[in-house]
Amino acid sequence: MKRDSDCIFCKILDGKIPANKVLQDGDSLAFMDIGPLADGHVLLIPSEHYVTLDEMPAESAAAMLKHLPALTRAVQKVTGCEGVNVLQNNGKIAGQLVQHVHFHIIPRDVGGAFQFNWPAGTYPPGRAESLAGAISDAL
Ligand code: AMP
Ligand code: ZN
Repeated sequence: MKRDSDCIFCKILDGKIPANKVLQDGDSLAFMDIGPLADGHVLLIPSEHYVTLDEMPAESAAAMLKHLPALTRAVQKVTGCEGVNVLQNNGKIAGQLVQHVHFHIIPRDVGGAFQFNWPAGTYPPGRAESLAGAISDAL
């Protein structure tokens, strides 16, 4: 099993530090975020140590992400929240502090402290088409 002895989430996986676990199987672990953005904020992580999502084999990502719908339903049911954001910070610039892939499941309610800045832009003619083609070719 790929682990990093300096990684806080690997330490949780190895039982070296405590966590409030929600779900665990051979591929993944879900537990309560220690610094919740809202009551019921859960983290879903792979059992193996990968720093960023792009490093992950598709099979490992799929085995972890299959839990997202049920986790989201359970968080909604227990907290009674109106909505949920699923967020994955990839890289320091994107706000990643813990260097082990994790998905945030964040309950959302009117008046909640967590807010997004979403400065939607527009594409000049042809730009979206050329980007679509380049990204498709890079797959
Ligand atoms: P990110 O900024 O996306 O890397 O988020 C890291 C998240 O990990 C934060 O929301 C922290 O509150 C959470 N976190 C850090 N250490 C622990 C821990 N020991 N147990 C549970 N959650 C943690
Ligand atoms: Zn790790």
